[in-house]
Amino acid sequence: MKLLEERIRHDGQVLPGNVLKVDNFLNHQVDPELMLTMGEEFARLFRDNGITKVLTVESSGIAPALMTGLKLQMPVVFARKHKSLTLVNDLYTATVYSYTKKVSNKISISKKFLGAQDKVLIIDDFLANGQAVAGLIEVCQQAQAEIVGVGIAIEKTFQRGHQLLKEKHIRLESLAKIAAFENGQVVFTDDSDN
Ligand code: 5GP
Repeated sequence: MKLLEERIRHDGQVLPGNVLKVDNFLNHQVDPELMLTMGEEFARLFRDNGITKVLTVESSGIAPALMTGLKLQMPVVFARKHKSLTLVNDLYTATVYSYTKKVSNKISISKKFLGAQDKVLIIDDFLANGQAVAGLIEVCQQAQAEIVGVGIAIEKTFQRGHQLLKEKHIRLESLAKIAAFENGQVVFTDDSDN
């Protein structure tokens, strides 16, 4: 999506450790117009797949997921992060290692919001090594829900997440695909195609 790529070029900041900082439109301050455009694009891509639920994880997945749910006219569920959980009977849970924070979090979803009747579209802000998405896949499997696909705002194609989803035969749609960071600059996959 050209609009997102332009915004990343304009406002993105490349940090050590292959981290892209986009806190003025996605990860801290949020641009609602851009989120809506992203939601429209995800909805267009998955419109004919009978999605019944949009699933993400707090907090930065919520904005694009919400707009996707708005456009698909389906509810949005976000997994909650906890350091530790004691009462887990009514929850589906998975452990997720955070790429940026370097800590493991338990994520959880109430059993009442996900079930075997659901066809799920997973949305997240970034795809790096695929741990966040893998955790969401795990909770879908516990719920016996069908995973229709994964929609990512910003994919770093040089990290392992892409391959992980391919191996699981899960459809992946990413709106901006980053092939590399070079000298503090972002190289998109379509730059390297040209
Ligand atoms: P993964 O689980 O795929 O390794 O990493 C995805 C999660 O880590 C995303 O939910 C996002 O919060 C965070 N993340 C991974 N890479 C980046 C990055 O380059 N920039 C930012 N801002 N967050 C990232």
